[in-house]
Formats: sequence, C-alpha cells, structure tokens
Amino acid sequence: MSHYDVIIIGAGAAGMFCAWQAGLRGRKVGLFDHSKKIGRKILISGGGRCNFTNIHAGPQAYVSNNPHFCKSALSRFTADDFISIVKKHRIAFHEKKLGQLFCDDSAEEIVAMLVGLCKSVGTHFQLDCYVDQVQQNQPSGFEIETNHGRVTCESLVIATGGLSIPQIGATGFGYKIAEQFKLKIVKPRPALDGFVFQNKDLAHYADLSGLSIDTIVSADGADFRENILFTHTGLSGPASLQASLYWDNGNPLSINLLPETNAFDWFCQKRKQGAKAEYKNLLAEILPKRFAEKFCSWYQPQSMPAEISDKDLQEFCEKLHNWQVIPLSTVGYKKAEVTRGGVDTNELSSKTMEAKKVPGLYFIGEVVDVTGQLGGYNFQWAWSSAFAAGEYV
Ligand SMILES: Cc1cc2nc3c(=O)[nH]c(=O)nc-3n(C[C@H](O)[C@H](O)[C@H](O)COP(=O)(O)OP(=O)(O)OC[C@H]3O[C@@H](n4cnc5c(N)ncnc54)[C@H](O)[C@@H]3O)c2cc1C
Repeated sequence: MSHYDVIIIGAGAAGMFCAWQAGLRGRKVGLFDHSKKIGRKILISGGGRCNFTNIHAGPQAYVSNNPHFCKSALSRFTADDFISIVKKHRIAFHEKKLGQLFCDDSAEEIVAMLVGLCKSVGTHFQLDCYVDQVQQNQPSGFEIETNHGRVTCESLVIATGGLSIPQIGATGFGYKIAEQFKLKIVKPRPALDGFVFQNKDLAHYADLSGLSIDTIVSADGADFRENILFTHTGLSGPASLQASLYWDNGNPLSINLLPETNAFDWFCQKRKQGAKAEYKNLLAEILPKRFAEKFCSWYQPQSMPAEISDKDLQEFCEKLHNWQVIPLSTVGYKKAEVTRGGVDTNELSSKTMEAKKVPGLYFIGEVVDVTGQLGGYNFQWAWSSAFAAGEYV
C-alpha cells in the first residue's frame, strides 16, 4: 500500500495549486482525478482564454452564508500574487474589462503552468482514478480505496469542485465526503447561468432572441450594469449571469432598460419639441427597435406622447427603469459556470480550510460555500483557498 503525506482528490485549479504549495514545503503529494485529462474546466474557462483572476478581487465579490469567511485566505494570497506567478512564466495577458485578466493566447498555458509547477515539486498525478471509499484511521490519517489500489495519507484535501458542467466530469463527491464526516452543507444550486422564462412569458419574449441591451439588472439586493441577452428560453448575457448568483426562486428581477437616460425627462423634452411620433418610434431612438416595438405593445399608454399627462408618462417611464420579470428558474448545471453553496464554512477553519471536527481533512475551491461573481473571482478563490491549505497540509 503506498503512503503519501497529502492526498488531494481533484486535479483542477484548486487541487493543482495546493499540490504545488504543499510540495514546496517538502510534502509528498498524490493528486488524484477521475478524469483522463487534467484541468478540463480551466481549458473551457473564459471562452478558452481563462479569466484567471480579477484585480479587484475582495470579499465584496463573493456570496457565502458567512461573508467574512473568505477574507483571510483572499488577503494572504491575492490577485497580485497570482499575477506575479503568471508573469514569471511569461504568459501574456490583458485586462478585458472591469479588472478581468485573460490569457492573450490560451487557457492551455495556465494548465501547462500548473502541471509544470506540480511536477517541479514531485507531485504524483494519478488520473483515471476513482475513489470508492475514504476511511479515517486512528489515531490520525486516512485510508483511501481507489481503482488503482489502497493508499494512506496524513492529510486529505477535497478539491473536487461543484456540480456545474457534469458533461466534463463534475460530481457531488465533495458533498458526499462532507456528509460522511457529518459536516453541514449549504444547499448547492447552479449559478452564473442566467434565467429561464416562465411558460406564460416564453411566447412574449421568444422573438426577441439574439437581442442584447445595456441595462442594470437587480436581484435580491445586488445590481449589475452590463448587457442582457435574450435567448430562445430566457435571459443570458453578463448582467443576467451575475444576477443569477444572487437571485432566489420566485423573486422578481428588476431591469433598468435605460441606465444612462432619465426616461421621463427625455420624453418631456420630446413633448416640448412637439414630437408627433408614436411611442415605439420614439423609444426606438434609445432602445433596439425590435425591443421598443415589443415593449410598447405591452405597456403603451392610451394617449399619444404629445398629449400624455405627466402622471401617465411617469408610470410608463417607471416601467422602463424598473421592468419586472419573474423567471421560472436559472438555466441549470449544464450551463452554470459555478455551483453556489457547498461545504458550510462554519465547519472549516478560515485560516487552513481544515474541517474543525475532522483533523487532517481539508476542503478547498468551489466545493466550499464561497462563490464568486463572474470575472475571474472563482479562480482567485481556488488559488487563495488552495494556498491557505497548502501551507498546513
Ligand atoms: C464554462 C465555464 C467557464 C468558466 N470561466 C471562468 C473564468 O473565466 N474565470 C473564473 O474565475 N472562473 C471561471 N469558471 C469557474 C471556475 O472554472 C471554477 O470555479 C474553478 O474551476 C473551480 O476550481 P476547483 O479546483 O474548485 O474545481 P474544478 O476546477 O472543477 O476541479 C475539480 C476537479 O475534480 C475532479 N473530480 C470531480 N469529481 C471527482 C471524483 N469523484 N473523483 C475524482 N476527481 C473528481 C474533476 O475532474 C476536476 O478535475 C468557469 C466555469 C465554467 C463551467
């Protein structure tokens, strides 16, 4: 039976980074993954260019039942720390927008860098590796049964991520291990996946598919100023993805369709100028024509713009600034970039990521109930939480 100081299950972003950190401390590390290919999620991230961090990464960009939990790890390994590693490896990158850093060429460079770092410290990769059983040894350590045989270790790190994109190997393994050791879980659910319209709304919105509008989308107290994109079934685009991280089932989304324009003042101005055009034609000056027509077919007031009372105009403009949509659901794990929820942070040390009740058992990355907004924050959590554990395992 082989013995390792540290076994990490999940050779994704967090798993590889932790393996390197632990290896730097001279620990003998086994990195196990059921996939035959390393870092598949990194490879598809950021449209193939991996948005590997965000220069504004900080606790404000994360959702968790305990918003303070991520502070310690994020402050001990920052976006700048990861950027300096990327620079050292001469990986060219650029800021796309809002502090989001992407590789100029390909996400493959990030995977190659992580694999190289792991190999430089002697990490033993075991791919195509299925873990059947995990057992705690007395007085310490773990015994793990896999399709490659039994192994033992002092520290066991669970870095198997969330449930998003099962097509490329996501599983609920981490949650199963947490349950086995009686650790609480915050109910996982898909996030950063946009919205599906209710059936009754589908017919209304279906022919808007492909249309993109600059908006502010608000959901459950969070506001995002970016585009929404109408799809055949609902709303996508960055503002919708961001809102889906905060949205709770049954609640409305409030969409400001004119974030740059005070609609009431704008229409008053038009009225003053004696504009005779219909609402849909006027609105088409500041919103896409297809949407303006649709919107007016739902909400157009009785009187023409030239004759409307201030009160009726206010009401119409309020709908433009606070258009309410109640989605049926978010899109689901097949499209979700992340899984919100996970291992309850109350069960873990924020300093080391070790389970308080189970010495030697660690959880890092997306499997933990810390979920970042769109824009490089989730990888930063993977690096920071992996660094925190890597210093102790
Ligand atoms: C399409 C898409 C695009 C994304 N783009 C970005 C982006 O640009 N920037 C950003 O910050 N975030 C992005 N994310 C989110 C980001 O990829 C994840 O948050 C991050 O990869 C989480 O790292 P992790 O190591 O915790 O989990 P993962 O990277 O998911 O790694 C988990 C590993 O565990 C393995 N595993 C799972 N179950 C088992 C099991 N039972 N036994 C053995 N091994 C197992 C998996 O094969 C995988 O290798 C994106 C996600 C998706 C789906």
